[in-house]
Amino acid sequence: MTDDSIDTFLAQPFGGGEGSVTPPIYQSSLFTFDDFSAFEARMSGQGNRTLYSRVQNPTQDAFEQMMAKLEGGEAAVGFASGMAAISSVLFAFLKPGDRLACVEHVYPDAYRLMERMLGPWGVEVTYHSVTELQDNPDTLKGAALAYLESPNSMMMQVMDLRKVADHAKAHGCLTVVDNSWATPVFQTPLALGIDIVLHSASKYICGHSDTVAGVVVASDEHIARIRDLTLPLLGGKLAPFEAWLLVRGLRTLPARMREHQRTADLFVDRLGARPEVVTVNSPGPNSVPGLKGRSGLMSIEFTKDIDVRKFADALNLFHYGVSWGGFESLIVPTAITLAQAGPKNSLQAFGVPDTMVRISLGLEDAEALWSDFESALVTAGS
Ligand SMILES: *Cc1c(COP(=O)(O)O)cnc(C)c1O
Repeated sequence: MTDDSIDTFLAQPFGGGEGSVTPPIYQSSLFTFDDFSAFEARMSGQGNRTLYSRVQNPTQDAFEQMMAKLEGGEAAVGFASGMAAISSVLFAFLKPGDRLACVEHVYPDAYRLMERMLGPWGVEVTYHSVTELQDNPDTLKGAALAYLESPNSMMMQVMDLRKVADHAKAHGCLTVVDNSWATPVFQTPLALGIDIVLHSASKYICGHSDTVAGVVVASDEHIARIRDLTLPLLGGKLAPFEAWLLVRGLRTLPARMREHQRTADLFVDRLGARPEVVTVNSPGPNSVPGLKGRSGLMSIEFTKDIDVRKFADALNLFHYGVSWGGFESLIVPTAITLAQAGPKNSLQAFGVPDTMVRISLGLEDAEALWSDFESALVTAGS
């Protein structure tokens, strides 16, 4: 979809009963039938009338149809979280003995899922740099599935998804991309030849920091496999109210992404001129084919002259917190994630500088955010 048509599509009223512009919330676990033969017909596989909300619900349908359209896929399926979407895809398409090829610096809990569950289940997991995936056509030889993020987590490294999709196709390897950072407003991986796209809908898709959810978009065939296997059997379904909140969030997605981009452009521009900054990891439009915009999540590496603790404590408009993609600006210093207790996370596994912060630029006034950031830099460098 072009930028204009995304805006117009998302502003279409739902067209429900009484002219309602939003879909009703079907807060019902089950849907009944009038007689023996109607019930029998449905149970024997005829038609697709709603039966039970673990597998289907009209409010979920409304969200799923919007996401399929936005990502340019044939079908979509919503989940209770981004991790439910990820695990439901991986367990639906992998089996013991398979090799899963994963991008380095993958989302920390996706890494833990691979290390702590898929590995012990008998899946061999190999990790690869974006360069290796992109430039070595044989990296995916013998792999059943490639799990990709572009950009990847924390380091924000992008890859040419079309190239990787072509390498994968040559070896019969299925490709999955986590598109949470770019959203369909800035990148549509299916159009680049990727097989399956998924999101943590808790981030930009929701946009209001009030919902944890996930979604997968792909061909009818791939979505049918998930609906047959992991949606009903692992049961990580999306709740009707949360689906309704996501439809609400999607209405403003393009407008929010334009605003995040405007602020991110301003930060990238001004950070480049600061002596305290070593690198800004914030991929912009056309840094790889198919990437059309810059979202508000970026990481910044400081020189040793900056005391990161002092810097982050001096901020007023950026709040300490995990997650991202909402209206509020957030900060995560890598020093905290590197010191995290418990099972190893991907930052500890792949290594990141401890003088780095990840920021999520929210919807506050861009100049106010910059002035807060700049004065904290001055405080932390003195
Ligand atoms: C947050 C996040 C996830 C996990 O999503 P949840 O909704 O928290 O389960 C997956 N991928 C990325 C890139 C994320 O940032």
